Amino acid sequence: MKSSALAPAPLIKLRSISKTFGDRKVLDNLDLDLNDGEFVTLLGPSGCGKTTVLRMIAGFEDPDSGSITLEGGVLHDMPAHERPVNTVFQSYALFPHMNVYDNVAFGLRMEKVAKAEIHERVREALEMVQLAHLSDRRPDQLSGGQQQRVAIARAVVKRPRVLLLDEPLSALDYKLRKQMQNELKRLQRRLGITFVFVTHDQEEALSMSDRVVVMREGGIEQIGTPREVYESPNTLFVARFVGEINQLAAQIIRPLPAGRIEIQVLDKRLELSSHGREYAGGEAVQVLLRPEDMRLKLVDATEGFPARVIERNYKGMTLDTVLELDSGQQMLASEFFDEDDPDFDYRLGERVRVSWVPDWEIILPDDEA
Ligand code: ATP
Repeated sequence: MKSSALAPAPLIKLRSISKTFGDRKVLDNLDLDLNDGEFVTLLGPSGCGKTTVLRMIAGFEDPDSGSITLEGGVLHDMPAHERPVNTVFQSYALFPHMNVYDNVAFGLRMEKVAKAEIHERVREALEMVQLAHLSDRRPDQLSGGQQQRVAIARAVVKRPRVLLLDEPLSALDYKLRKQMQNELKRLQRRLGITFVFVTHDQEEALSMSDRVVVMREGGIEQIGTPREVYESPNTLFVARFVGEINQLAAQIIRPLPAGRIEIQVLDKRLELSSHGREYAGGEAVQVLLRPEDMRLKLVDATEGFPARVIERNYKGMTLDTVLELDSGQQMLASEFFDEDDPDFDYRLGERVRVSWVPDWEIILPDDEA
């Protein structure tokens, strides 16, 4: 999955960053490295501190304690406008009375860059976001997606080392949002600038990022590639926040040889992989299952847990089935639509057996019981 290229060098380092607003600790001793040229996303529920991290990198907010450095030099003392950092806000904040060209040129004019150079750089930035042909339009003559691209052109024209994007797609409709996700990702690759993107949309985070930083209540819960945080979450919080997940309370009976464990799940004793973790007999755990890893069979099967179909939602690509186990617990199974599979023909109220693709379970300590 990962290329064998050298790991990128950290560009920005945040160390032991804390911040309190009033009596509310918003960031608590946070450490974070941002690598040169990567697309990194801060993902987490509302209020967890994502925007505050961005604002500190930008220089709009000072940490109470801790340090922010760029290539070893101190950044946290530097005024915002001197930092090689630019921000694209959700609102775009374009000047309504200026055309596209002037919006993009504005920052360079303020810096008294020579006219010919301004012209060159604005054209380049507009071509990059494919808006050169609309340079005479005012913002109100553009679609939401086009306004977004102007905001990005205006930010990249200043050639920042880091571009901060605070939920820049959240105002767009679904289709345009998907399209802009792809465009932004391609743009980032082309520019080679470090993008720090904030979202609370986990699907957006997974599809765009080189690395995802999952935040929770002012701290970092896990940092990893999209696959790592989705397939190997470190904590129940990450497992639940990044994607849909089914949860079964379970107890380790005993470790077995060859990396296996005996585990009590509902009324069954199963032998599963330990997934490389050490477990002790008696330990309370949660068995976590992604909906797309669930498998349903009609009731004559013997494997799996008996359940009843209580909802079926046709989703186009998949058929999502809500099941109620005999224990009363509900689970979601998401299967690719396959009319030719006889086991696919279950109806509302029908009894089925539910299991999952072997080894695709995630087992985590039940630290939130
Ligand atoms: P969202 O996704 O809703 O934007 P977030 O993760 O970006 O959330 P922040 O905007 O960083 O969260 O805010 C974290 C917490 O700090 C929130 O409880 C917020 O109300 C509070 N907060 C942020 N800025 C200030 C401020 N200037 N004064 C007081 N409280 C603030």
